[in-house]
Amino acid sequence: MTRAINFNAGPAALPLPALERAQAELLDFAGSGMSVMEHSHRGKEYEAVHREAQVLLRELLKVPDSYDVLFLQGGATQEFAQVPLNFLPAGKTADYVIAGAWGEKALSEAKACAALGGGAVRVSVSTGKGEGKEKQYTSAPADFAAAPGAAYVHITSNETIHGVQLASQPGAEFPRCEAPLVADMSSDFLWRPFDVSRFAFIYAGAQKNIGPSGVTVVVAKKDFIAQGRKDLPKIFQYRTHAENDSLYNTPPTFGIYLVRNVLAWVKEQGGLSAMEKANREKARLVYGAIDASGGFYRCPVEPQSRSAMNAVFRLRDEKLEEQFLAEAKKQRMVGLKGHRSVGGIRASLYNAVTVGNARALSSLMAEFARRNG
Ligand SMILES: *Cc1c(COP(=O)(O)O)cnc(C)c1O
Repeated sequence: MTRAINFNAGPAALPLPALERAQAELLDFAGSGMSVMEHSHRGKEYEAVHREAQVLLRELLKVPDSYDVLFLQGGATQEFAQVPLNFLPAGKTADYVIAGAWGEKALSEAKACAALGGGAVRVSVSTGKGEGKEKQYTSAPADFAAAPGAAYVHITSNETIHGVQLASQPGAEFPRCEAPLVADMSSDFLWRPFDVSRFAFIYAGAQKNIGPSGVTVVVAKKDFIAQGRKDLPKIFQYRTHAENDSLYNTPPTFGIYLVRNVLAWVKEQGGLSAMEKANREKARLVYGAIDASGGFYRCPVEPQSRSAMNAVFRLRDEKLEEQFLAEAKKQRMVGLKGHRSVGGIRASLYNAVTVGNARALSSLMAEFARRNG
């Protein structure tokens, strides 16, 4: 078997050892004669997996005890609605910081929830330029102070489609906000260490960097969760999931099991500092090939906002981009086509993509530019 070199944006590459472990344990989990999928979510076998995934995540991210770690369903898209349903009370305003397409989607759902619940939504900063289909995002906002008394301020810390990342430079920290800071970190999670205590509420769809689709990870301050509305159906209240240790109803057990495998692998690799070192090197290789090409490849994103996770770039015209994709495919490189809404090329460089994979892409880019420049 020859594995593909997978630059998919999500669902994305998973670390081979995490998959091999799942393969080895598939039919007979922990000597039980059954797959982990076939176990009760209330049995001791599954419970150990659930616990281990939580403990590993807490350890890797140094999550303070005053935070809950939840494994939910519905994807980041459900969080777009569930966050304002819980945390935007009547008469209050939530501030949204927009640096790309996912932030726009979060905003749109928040507006619908505000209309239902009597709250208001405000765009505090947007880095978008142009209108409609021509709208472009090429930089992260420098500052996102919220309106005084805001219920929360929402950021999308990495814009997966536009390749724009907040606090992307080495050593950069997320700003401290007076209002509770809520972040969609779907494509920004677990690739480097960061200070969880600056956030009130973090959510991430697992399929970018921590596991398969079907699991949504939430890391949230307990006292923030406690502020949520109490008149919602129970399933939509975060407190329900926090009080029941993410076992209120049947969780996506196999997905959480795979998250456990990925987290164990991250730990084995040396944790988040080791992840960051490799990820910085991968980003250097790909952006290096862009910058060394004398304009053959163009990254629309300003250098200080370039995403280490999703590198987007364009070639002279779409025909040449198609040719590039075809040549990449011959070398087993897949997932490089940019999102349908923006076109171009996108290389997603999540944890499971190796430095060798990024080097192969960077070499292809240099060679392709030489031949076609
Ligand atoms: C992929 C992605 C989403 C959507 O995730 P779903 O799990 O499909 O709902 C939302 N936000 C960001 C930043 C993403 O990368």
